[in-house]
Amino acid sequence: MEKKELSVFKAMRRIVPMIFGEVPVWSVIYMVSALLMGVSYGIAAPVNQRLYDALAQLALGDGILRSVYVGAVMVTGVMIFQQVAGSAFNFIMTNVMYYIVDIRLRRLYHAKIKTLPAQIFEDKVKLDDLEKCDYGILGSGFMYRFLLNIVFFYGTFFVIMAAFLFNTQPILIFAIFLAFVPSIMGQFIEAKFYAKLEEESSPLRRQNAHYSECLAGLKILKETRLFGAYYFFKKLFMETLELLAQKEWNNQNKVQAMYLVINGLKAAGWLGILILLFRGLMRGEISVGAFAAVFGSIGMLFGITEDLFANLKHNITEQLGKIHNFINVIEIPTAQGSNTPPDFKSHGVTAKNISFAYAGAEKNAVDDVTLSVRPGETIALVGENGSGKTTLVKLLCGLYKPDKGTVSIGGTDSAHTSDDALFSKSSGVFQNYMQYGLTLEENIKISEYKSKNSVIPSMDEADVDHKDEKTFPNGLETLMSRDLDGTDISGGQWQRVATARGLFRTHDFIVLDEPTAAIDPLEETRIYKRFAELTKSKIAILVTHRLGSARIADRIIVMDNGKIAESGTHESLLTLPGGKYAEMWEAQAESYSEIKYDMP
Ligand code: ADP
Repeated sequence: MEKKELSVFKAMRRIVPMIFGEVPVWSVIYMVSALLMGVSYGIAAPVNQRLYDALAQLALGDGILRSVYVGAVMVTGVMIFQQVAGSAFNFIMTNVMYYIVDIRLRRLYHAKIKTLPAQIFEDKVKLDDLEKCDYGILGSGFMYRFLLNIVFFYGTFFVIMAAFLFNTQPILIFAIFLAFVPSIMGQFIEAKFYAKLEEESSPLRRQNAHYSECLAGLKILKETRLFGAYYFFKKLFMETLELLAQKEWNNQNKVQAMYLVINGLKAAGWLGILILLFRGLMRGEISVGAFAAVFGSIGMLFGITEDLFANLKHNITEQLGKIHNFINVIEIPTAQGSNTPPDFKSHGVTAKNISFAYAGAEKNAVDDVTLSVRPGETIALVGENGSGKTTLVKLLCGLYKPDKGTVSIGGTDSAHTSDDALFSKSSGVFQNYMQYGLTLEENIKISEYKSKNSVIPSMDEADVDHKDEKTFPNGLETLMSRDLDGTDISGGQWQRVATARGLFRTHDFIVLDEPTAAIDPLEETRIYKRFAELTKSKIAILVTHRLGSARIADRIIVMDNGKIAESGTHESLLTLPGGKYAEMWEAQAESYSEIKYDMP
């Protein structure tokens, strides 16, 4: 319990200043509107009392009609005030605070994500935290608004009511407080019942959803049909559904029985208050108007208090875990690197004794590698699957920072340079390139969307069939997404588009990590040869498992088990006795027998 309280305070301490700092003016407007609403509800009882007293006196024959009129006007005024203040409050809450806070927090979140080291996205635990952040953003907004409501709406209302009751008869405060206890208890007990129900039914619900998927899920329907498994899944679906309904039914019964008792206690509480009021009236301690006003406002008092506790549960207890998720992400430290861009004319890319392990992995994916790429040099990384090529190339271009050792990119240390500076002259295409739901042109231009340069040369270099009307019916404007009512293209064409994207970006250093796996070896080699011509004066690192393509590089590095096993030109590597490269070449040579290696 203590830990939970601490964590509520921690969340409040982080969230309140953060959101207030983002939207100070709207926050103040919101506070004022909540306060006005609190006042409008709080003054209802004393104003009603005035009218009732005037009426009572008139009925007894010693009142004046004018007081009744004034009272009636005031009561009407308060009702109008309540309506106006309530509407303004709701409008600001739903239309302004909700959206503005959400947008501002999302902006903070996006800015944070931009500065996080890329390797965090390989860490499943952190990734999970990041994915849950979405709910944390919403939850933080809820919590902020609710905390302001507690202070400005509920706070104001309760203070005015307490003053009114104290003024009427101090003991009433205590009596009403006692009368609240059962209804607050009821809410907590109900929450407990539902938490238990949720705990018991969520595995069942997941099973039920899975069986439903087996019966009607488009992806598995074929197999269900082929195996004639419809009746089997239907039986399982119905069984789980019945169990779920049974649990829900039992829970409802328990909740209703509990509320029967609670409502009995509540009625007893009301009766107690009524007796107190009646006693006060008989003894002449309170007026008829006070009697009616207190009695009439108890319903509202109960309603608002129950509302407060229900909201407390919804806005704080249920959101707390998610809010902490968001806070954890916002609090991940980000190193402020230098802003000096790399200089690839005088410096190459140098790795000194670098090692890197993925989160949770037992061994290093790259293990104590030292490598220097000269300005203007093209190197190829080859090796078996899992030998560490992709990881090494991500370290060499600065996407991942080494656990040990240093990587210098164009003279700048990859671990101490801001991403904007570090990547300012680099480009690359990776295996898991993105297929954006944008037009063909936009898909290529994402890195320099304001550039006036034509994307056609890059597409020609990457062999994109942009003139083919069947593939790209609207030319450069073809929307590349079936989901967005556009067209889709083959995996091979997508790889060419992704390669064109990498080539289009102005760069002095480029990395190609097997973006051509879905393209046949002969064409891949053709693309790579053209690529070698283009990158003559630039630093280029190619990753490929096809040695025919590796041949175009000035130097070939053979990776094995996270380490560099061999390094040299194609010819020199072939002569290494018992060499890995020679063995791989032997196995693949046939595919390349038709290609002439007249190097550019
Ligand atoms: P290659 O590019 O040569 O196929 P990788 O660099 O992708 O090799 O992988 C090197 C090693 O790191 C492999 O053992 C692989 O299983 C492991 N690895 C790669 N990515 C991850 C990841 N995201 N999480 C954990 N281990 C990974």
